[in-house]
Amino acid sequence: MANTPYPQSYYAASANAVPPRPVLQGEVETDVCVIGAGYTGLSSALFLLENGFRVTVLEAAKVGFGASGRNGGQIVNSYSRDIDVIERSVGPKQAQLLGDMAFEGGRIIRERVAKYQIQCDLKDGGVFAALNSKHMGHLESQKRLWERYGHTQLELLDERRIREVVACDNYVGGLLDMSGGHIHPLNLALGEAAAVESLGGTIYEQSAAVRIERGANPVVHTTEGKVRAKFIIVAGNAYLGNLVPELAAKSMPCGTQVITTAPLGDELAQSLLPQDYCVEDCNYLLDYYRLTRDKRLIFGGGVVYGARDPANIEAIIRPKMLKAFPQLKDVKIDYAWTGNFLLTLSRLPQVGRLGDNIYYSQGCSGHGVTYTHLAGKVLAEALRGQAERFDAFADLPHYPFPGGQLLRTPFAAMGAWYYGLRDKLGF
Ligand SMILES: Cc1cc2nc3c(=O)[nH]c(=O)nc-3n(C[C@H](O)[C@H](O)[C@H](O)COP(=O)(O)OP(=O)(O)OC[C@H]3O[C@@H](n4cnc5c(N)ncnc54)[C@H](O)[C@@H]3O)c2cc1C
Repeated sequence: MANTPYPQSYYAASANAVPPRPVLQGEVETDVCVIGAGYTGLSSALFLLENGFRVTVLEAAKVGFGASGRNGGQIVNSYSRDIDVIERSVGPKQAQLLGDMAFEGGRIIRERVAKYQIQCDLKDGGVFAALNSKHMGHLESQKRLWERYGHTQLELLDERRIREVVACDNYVGGLLDMSGGHIHPLNLALGEAAAVESLGGTIYEQSAAVRIERGANPVVHTTEGKVRAKFIIVAGNAYLGNLVPELAAKSMPCGTQVITTAPLGDELAQSLLPQDYCVEDCNYLLDYYRLTRDKRLIFGGGVVYGARDPANIEAIIRPKMLKAFPQLKDVKIDYAWTGNFLLTLSRLPQVGRLGDNIYYSQGCSGHGVTYTHLAGKVLAEALRGQAERFDAFADLPHYPFPGGQLLRTPFAAMGAWYYGLRDKLGF
């Protein structure tokens, strides 16, 4: 039997203690079988349990093994493509629903943390940093756009104000979102898993779904067992492989890399990010960073299309970190890891049903910490027969990548090269 451990990340090294979880053996019956114990699966499981469903979660490796236990930990609101793009591709009612929901995921995370007393180093405050006047103009219109949907908590930062927030000379301004913030992502997932179990849900680890028997009474098979369920939620995201072939054509796994410094000490850490907010810049291929509880800097950036693991992550990410913070040139990197997120062509989430009883949500294209928490709520609503908000996502148009599964990686890499060039030239 495969025993897949966590990757060697700062998060795995600082994870809260958890009990061992069983491997599925034999047959179980449940209302909802959730495939994947990342935020999408765990959030769905929690909302369903809170509404009286019986839930069984199958996880191929360990809780939070995928992007949910490896990400930058940044609570970034809204979607990877914003409401103005949505407004252009759907009708006003659907745009209104999606716009109304754009900041709900961050609220759900805070509710979960408070209700289930999850120890995950939650901090409020996230900044979008502008590298040039075009970025600043974009942030100004972004603020106006979000305000039209009632999200009025955002504050523009001029060049002087952003220097008070981050000790980096590269920025001309920014946008502060106090409903953004940061968390220890793996500990959030582990806390949510404990909450699932406290409500009577079962989570099997090292128990990959290898086949779905579709029909009126679907069955999910693992190597050593099976789950009979009324509904299935597919939440395997970039790690799903070809379990559900219909989903693979319109999305592409991509790798992104993160490094973590040695502890910086209070003084240096505070000089970099005095208010302890997280920061992401406005480039298409963006850099993002924040401090940890023990005053390390976690810095991420870059994309590997097709999700190959780069040989030397530190060599890719450290120069980006030093461009933002040359003052860290003598600081050691303690951890470096890669993780996969799922990209769609529109960069909007891929949500829907297959038949009457298989539901899915995936492909939030890089900004998923908040959306996945919202997705769990929206999926649970749909299973309870209230599908208006689910349908707002499900009706978003999606297209296959040009070139099909064989050529989608080079095509996307070409697109990224173009956007990377635009970032460098500042237009
Ligand atoms: C390095 C990195 C940094 C990121 N930084 C940020 C950030 O700072 N802010 C932000 O908003 N977003 C960020 N993201 C994106 C965000 O982490 C993801 O969008 C989100 O975690 C996706 O959650 P998920 O539950 O859909 O998928 P995942 O967390 O990937 O979970 C899927 C789970 O399903 C399991 N699985 C797959 N197939 C099967 C199967 N057949 N049977 C059983 N289990 C299966 C996997 O093992 C995995 O545990 C980042 C992503 C990465 C990779």
